[in-house]
Amino acid sequence: MIQEKGTISIHTENIFPIIKKFLYSDNEIFLRELVSNAVDATQKIKRLASLGEFNGTLGDLKVQVSVDKEAKTITISDMGIGMTAEEIKKYINQVAFSGATEFMEQFREAKDANEIIGKFGLGFYSAFMVADKVEINTLSYREGASAARWICDGSTSFEISEGDRTNRGTDIILHINPESEEFLEEYRLREILKKYGQFLPVPIQFGMRTERTPDGEDEEGKPKFIETEVPDIINNTSPIWTKAPSDLTDEDYLNFYRELYPFSEEPLFWIHLNVDYPFTLTGVLYFPKVKNELELQRNKIKLFSRQVFITDEVKDIVPEFLMLLHGVIDSPDIPLNVSRSFLQADGNVKKINNYITKKVADKLSELFKADRKSFEEKWKDVNLFVKYGMISDEKFYDKAKEFALLENVHQQYFTLPEYTDKVKAEQTDKSGKVIWLYSNDPARQHTYITQAEKRSYDVLTMNGPLDNHFIAQLEQKLENTALKRVDSDVLDKLIEKDVKIECVLSEEQSASVKTLFEQTIANGTMNVQVEGLSPDEMPVTVTMDEFMRRMKDMSKMGGGM
Ligand code: ADP
Ligand code: MG
Repeated sequence: MIQEKGTISIHTENIFPIIKKFLYSDNEIFLRELVSNAVDATQKIKRLASLGEFNGTLGDLKVQVSVDKEAKTITISDMGIGMTAEEIKKYINQVAFSGATEFMEQFREAKDANEIIGKFGLGFYSAFMVADKVEINTLSYREGASAARWICDGSTSFEISEGDRTNRGTDIILHINPESEEFLEEYRLREILKKYGQFLPVPIQFGMRTERTPDGEDEEGKPKFIETEVPDIINNTSPIWTKAPSDLTDEDYLNFYRELYPFSEEPLFWIHLNVDYPFTLTGVLYFPKVKNELELQRNKIKLFSRQVFITDEVKDIVPEFLMLLHGVIDSPDIPLNVSRSFLQADGNVKKINNYITKKVADKLSELFKADRKSFEEKWKDVNLFVKYGMISDEKFYDKAKEFALLENVHQQYFTLPEYTDKVKAEQTDKSGKVIWLYSNDPARQHTYITQAEKRSYDVLTMNGPLDNHFIAQLEQKLENTALKRVDSDVLDKLIEKDVKIECVLSEEQSASVKTLFEQTIANGTMNVQVEGLSPDEMPVTVTMDEFMRRMKDMSKMGGGM
């Protein structure tokens, strides 16, 4: 029996097309929104019970999602607070009136009032992206409330009538439109539910799984099975990032990593993020093992808002150089459903970015201080992050310069200050600059390395994918220091040393060998030196000016200036 007919009050005449087209870029979001609402309603009843405002039995609180392929409906049912007909009019009909906001206002004092997900007042209407008719069948928790039903076909008119729910809570029934029938496929729905709801705080039940359990043998002696239907809970309601770090073991962190990225290699270490002020953010970031560039995977950080998955596009929120980390970040303070440029300009997002950078730097510094040896062992895996960070982020550079390591050709590790101390006495050029020698290909530059070492100079290995940029950054940051490739014509420019380099050739012979080489190479940028360290080693070296070489390399890479 229809009790009332009316018109939904909206400010914009054609709000539905706007919602359908522009609010959410992705149709599948409807499920996130409706399940979030069901979770919100469930959290609210729990909240009311704990405040003593609801004295009935809570029951086995969960949210159920089911599909009826024949009727072409998807139903989302909860045992939350439900709604009276009045509340439907207030919270549903008034588009953009956020009931959640009001609820927050009322229960501001309550400790975990921020467990309420919604705050935009538009989520419900995302249902019309996939449904041409939506029904609400609900019974409020309030004593003496009567069940109510609301039906809307996506136009601006609605109907409210008596409902038939006999227990507290709400069913949202979506009559799926022909273009959206993919969502009637169980696997598709399960996939979306898992994606957005994997860590929701209330159990989400979806479909029924048939389980066959052995039950003795039949008359012919064949094993007998009984089939039972087991409801499938698709989520983990208390993921580790919601817990206190002090309650967690290494195994908990590793298990969670496996839950997020099945079949991945174990991470190196992790950072538990947990901050309340000036913004709220929790999460766990993992450093994956990265052996080479090809393994670098971006977008492995999942962004959540109160345990609802939002996106794995965390650019702008996570500093660029940490985009290679894995893990989760949960923050209700990151504006959702807004454009990228807005996000970049958002004050909280900037603060979050800085906070993450600082936490990562602190963690690395802590590992370095606690156990230098194990830090050195991890260096191969983390050096890429650290160098990327040092190149791209001033603040990170300032922290990392204390723990970033340099590796020499003998696999010895030094911090930047340690290295300067090590080489400054010997490797200074005539202008007083400290020269760091490096090799980007120790195998091919072996002879040059040997020559440098004969003079007791040290040679660094700089053959990583970012090392060219890292070298440029070091030169810019380090005072009075230059980096030169070991095969550049630098060795003889360093301050005279007492190494007696004996030449097996006479001065005359040297001169003609030099001329011969120069003519053969016929390249003005190359230097030929004849010195011959000993008869069994190379008597001639060909070197190039470091600056000329860098220019050449750059033009080879197509990055001409
Ligand atoms: P928001 O969740 O941001 O408030 P929505 O459009 O998603 O906005 O929902 C509007 C309001 O409708 C909610 O705040 C809530 O008051 C009410 N509502 C929606 N779904 C339910 C539900 N399953 N149970 C109880 N109330 C609901
Ligand atoms: Mg909502």
